Amino acid sequence: MAVERTLSIIKPDAVEKKKVGAILAMLEEAGFSVLALKRVKLSKEVAEGFYAVHKARPFFGELVQFMTRSPVVVAVLERDDAVAKYRAVMGATDPAKADAGTIRKAFGANVGENAVHGSDSLDNAKIEIAYFFPASEVAPQA
Ligand code: GDP
Repeated sequence: MAVERTLSIIKPDAVEKKKVGAILAMLEEAGFSVLALKRVKLSKEVAEGFYAVHKARPFFGELVQFMTRSPVVVAVLERDDAVAKYRAVMGATDPAKADAGTIRKAFGANVGENAVHGSDSLDNAKIEIAYFFPASEVAPQA
């Protein structure tokens, strides 16, 4: 299985609830290494650019408003099969439908405020990592 990197965002709802440490602990327990990490308050422009693929969706405005409400914590994660493994640990978009033991089941409130983001493909992971981190801010494992 190939070693991959993926982008994680701990969303405003989970940061507000002080679940950053708990979520990072779950990720490390699940075998991910944190190669880069930062807390940032997204501007409207940055949030709209990040979610540009959802521009036509009816919830786009709500999504941007939510993601810019308060700071997020963005991370680059690495492990074998990272994109699929992180999607599995993250759980379904709607926390009510997420499996037990997933981050969204534990910390998500509803389909909009669902605690975390994770890249949905390896190609998107590369784009999303570059959106937040220059290569110089991603420290490879020794
Ligand atoms: P994900 O890949 O599981 O995050 O799901 P999507 O790519 O389908 O949606 C991106 C994000 O948009 C989700 O994580 C939610 O934060 C938000 N979202 C999705 N569906 C809805 C919805 O029906 N209403 C609202 N307000 N937000 C939504």
